[in-house]
Amino acid sequence: MTLPSSPAALADATWPDIAPHYQRLAEAPLDAETLLAWLREWSQLESLLSEAASLAMIAYTCDTGDPTKEGAHLRFSTEIVPKAEEQSVALARRLVEQPGVPEGMEHVVARFRASIDIFREANVPLFAELEELASRYQRMTGGMLATWDGVEQPLPMLSPYLQSPERTVRERAFRAVVQPYVEQHGALAGLFDQLYAKRQAVARNANFSDYAAFSFIAKHRFDYTPGDCERFHDAVETIVVPAHTRALAARRDRLGLESLRPWDLAVNPYRSEPLRPFETGDQLAHGVQRMVQAIDPALGEHVQTMIDERLLDLDSRKGKAPGGYCDTLHVRGRPFIFMNASGVLEDLITLLHESGHAFHAFAAHQQPYVWQRHPGAEAAELASMSMELLAGPHLGPPVGMLSERDAAIARLEHLEDALASLPHIASVDAFQTWIYTSGVGHDAAARDAAWIRIRARFEQAVDWSGLLAERVARWYRQLHIYLYPFYYIEYGIAQLGALQVWLNHRRQGPAALEAYRRFLSLGATRSLPELYHEAGAALIFDPVGMRPLVDMVEEEMEKLREVAG
Ligand SMILES: [Zn+2]
Repeated sequence: MTLPSSPAALADATWPDIAPHYQRLAEAPLDAETLLAWLREWSQLESLLSEAASLAMIAYTCDTGDPTKEGAHLRFSTEIVPKAEEQSVALARRLVEQPGVPEGMEHVVARFRASIDIFREANVPLFAELEELASRYQRMTGGMLATWDGVEQPLPMLSPYLQSPERTVRERAFRAVVQPYVEQHGALAGLFDQLYAKRQAVARNANFSDYAAFSFIAKHRFDYTPGDCERFHDAVETIVVPAHTRALAARRDRLGLESLRPWDLAVNPYRSEPLRPFETGDQLAHGVQRMVQAIDPALGEHVQTMIDERLLDLDSRKGKAPGGYCDTLHVRGRPFIFMNASGVLEDLITLLHESGHAFHAFAAHQQPYVWQRHPGAEAAELASMSMELLAGPHLGPPVGMLSERDAAIARLEHLEDALASLPHIASVDAFQTWIYTSGVGHDAAARDAAWIRIRARFEQAVDWSGLLAERVARWYRQLHIYLYPFYYIEYGIAQLGALQVWLNHRRQGPAALEAYRRFLSLGATRSLPELYHEAGAALIFDPVGMRPLVDMVEEEMEKLREVAG
């Protein structure tokens, strides 16, 4: 019995069609002689199955009204993939028991080994209960409505009003969006009590002191420590917070305000109407192709391939699922990008970001085994966030999609967001660490007090007076704390990495892009510091590393303010 010839041959498969392939791999004799052939076959099975599941998901999310496509997607996502994952864990156990590690698989095997080491049968039902609690959070917050002009609306519908040039309108929108969280504070706190208790139990079952320590191993953070994260918080407070405060002072002056209130942060101080760089998804795709081509012809060719092979579905239209993603077709060696673009600047930035993930998929496909291709979030986001910054100088003429002044306005907004993101990331990470290590994280009132204390460290230039309940509500709105605990500092590490790639590009030109492409092609075959090093960057947790990057951002913003006028 041999593997199916293509993902298409698996399109109608059910688990009984797939199980025998895993069975054969589970029973095959394994020694130094047969290991490589066995590994190739397992990798090919995973590639076929993953591409078949991706194709089913793509077909469904592009056309949610078709019950056949929905059925196929559900068959893969709820039946086949979870069963296949169970079987893969058993095969990973066989692999790590082998005396020799195949070349290039060292880091993959280390990740497998860490996951196996912390696996406990007793945690299986706890993880299922955690999933259920997480989906309760999604139901609660997804169903929240705000009253706007007498009509009840889902919260995302109010986003445009948060950016209104009229202060009273954006204040009203801000209060309307936060109000449901304030009203449901008790229920959300109670839900978190349960998440907290179960997560700490998971950690204890696996012989860890707390869920923070457990998470470092579960998330394969082999190359930085909780101490490094604490240094990151301190360095952000010392270097980034003052720079962000200066940016906010410029915003305040430009808006002609005495002080900034929380509803003054989303409005663009240079334009009363949002930027609209394109109308159709086609225009967006070709615009991004021109911009990427101007950065690096080799990467520009990848975007052209995605256009030619119809690997982009960008337009928002009736019947599409919400949101966006970049997925990898592992047999074909191609990425696929899904978006719901409506013509605003954010869509353009999103496509640039997803393009970075897509370039990673193109380049890492040269790695022979499927597990060698996708690194963790710290490296994956380095690929995507670098593209956002590298494309900045091309937003305007001659290749971009905006006038010179609008491009400056767009870049100012992007760089202010980059500065704002680091203190926010530091506060979310510091808060989660406090929750699971302070010993009083089970106490809802103590949690809220800790959030306010931590937030005051990192958000100094915004006047929250009279808004204590609203400021407390901010952490209940941060879905990662509920759904993906500790998944956050990765963005900060990657943002600082991307700023280094950008700095290198300004100094060295094409050499920096060659380094970036080398980094992409390594996939997940090196340690995190080695991957960053290849890209010309380092993991930064200290003030000395942050200083030149923040200086560069501030200098650039100063120049852009002159163009924006
Ligand atoms: Zn991303």
